Amino acid sequence: MRDKKSLKSLNTFGVDVSATDIIYIYHDDDIIKFLSSPEKESSFYVLGDGSNVLFTKDYDGVILKMETKGIEIVSQTEEKIFVKAKAGEDWDEFVRYCLVHNYCGLENLALIPGKVGSSPIQNIGAYGQEVRNFITKVYAISVSNRSLCTFENKDCQFGYRTSIFKQACKGQYIITDVEFMLTIDGTPDITYDEIKNRLSMIDSVKAQDVYNAVSYIRSIKLPDWRVSGNAGSFFKNPIIPVSHFTELKKKYPNLKAYSIGVDECKMSAAQLIEFSGWKGKKFRDAGVHPAQPLVLVNYGNATGKDILDLATYIQNDVYNLFQVQLEIEVNII
Ligand SMILES: Cc1cc2nc3c(=O)[nH]c(=O)nc-3n(C[C@H](O)[C@H](O)[C@H](O)COP(=O)(O)OP(=O)(O)OC[C@H]3O[C@@H](n4cnc5c(N)ncnc54)[C@H](O)[C@@H]3O)c2cc1C
Repeated sequence: MRDKKSLKSLNTFGVDVSATDIIYIYHDDDIIKFLSSPEKESSFYVLGDGSNVLFTKDYDGVILKMETKGIEIVSQTEEKIFVKAKAGEDWDEFVRYCLVHNYCGLENLALIPGKVGSSPIQNIGAYGQEVRNFITKVYAISVSNRSLCTFENKDCQFGYRTSIFKQACKGQYIITDVEFMLTIDGTPDITYDEIKNRLSMIDSVKAQDVYNAVSYIRSIKLPDWRVSGNAGSFFKNPIIPVSHFTELKKKYPNLKAYSIGVDECKMSAAQLIEFSGWKGKKFRDAGVHPAQPLVLVNYGNATGKDILDLATYIQNDVYNLFQVQLEIEVNII
């Protein structure tokens, strides 16, 4: 099925751009068909729910919009279950499906917008968990020769908000399915302080309690993209040498960071943005959210370029003040 229309409703920033064409992918065969057609030679871009992209101009090419559906049980032991989901499944609906069936693990990743097929791309993470801890296999179609490929967890080169699909193999594969290993009736992870505190009154915490706690915290902390367009965290939390942090701390005693190994620590990008004076500030119709400085928002009529310009100003100011480079998490198109 084909359509030619605006991408405004297909990106959570709500940026008003268009593409030459949009092809909705309902079956894996649609991908093969597209890759076998002459259109493959023009530019194309795979889109899930558009919650981690920023279009800076009209897209001169075809959008492949992932809508494939299906969840299947691959195998099961007494404790573990291997569940495979199609790329076009809604992530949060999948998390809830798992909870209803008592397959535990994904509850900390509640309410993250997007599709299942996008979850490995930047190794989605929140509230003490990352999806790499549950992914066993990623199934994909090679763009160059249309072959079906299977990536084991270790092949995916998962890292903090990254994977091989965002780095070395960017644009080279279209993910069709993701397989997860979950624990049947498992004990949920409540090591993250905010979750632990919120659930401290419950004796025997269930996965559903964690899902509810995460959903509540997210709903009060994060701006709703349907109201103010955004893509969640715009920047990654920077990782810097401990020696650098020690120097910064002398000048800014309130700066926060936590250790990663012996030599490095991860800083709070939100705090760096706040200390740079950008919290709540606007540039044209783009802005830094007043409560969550890591989130850049479209107040209605911002263009992708406005948002990217704002991001660049922030990056420059943070660098000038702290000599820390903020890396953009969102995919800029
Ligand atoms: C309010 C809000 C909160 C958020 N909170 C979090 C959070 O807590 N943690 C977190 O990690 N992220 C968060 N995000 C970011 C976003 O939700 C995730 O990155 C999500 O996985 C993106 O899914 P999507 O389907 O929207 O991907 P899209 O934005 O459509 O695509 C993202 C990238 O993946 C590629 N892609 C998508 N599908 C495929 C496929 N099948 N094959 C190959 N490439 C593909 C695209 O080409 C693009 O490069 C948040 C976003 C918003 C708006």
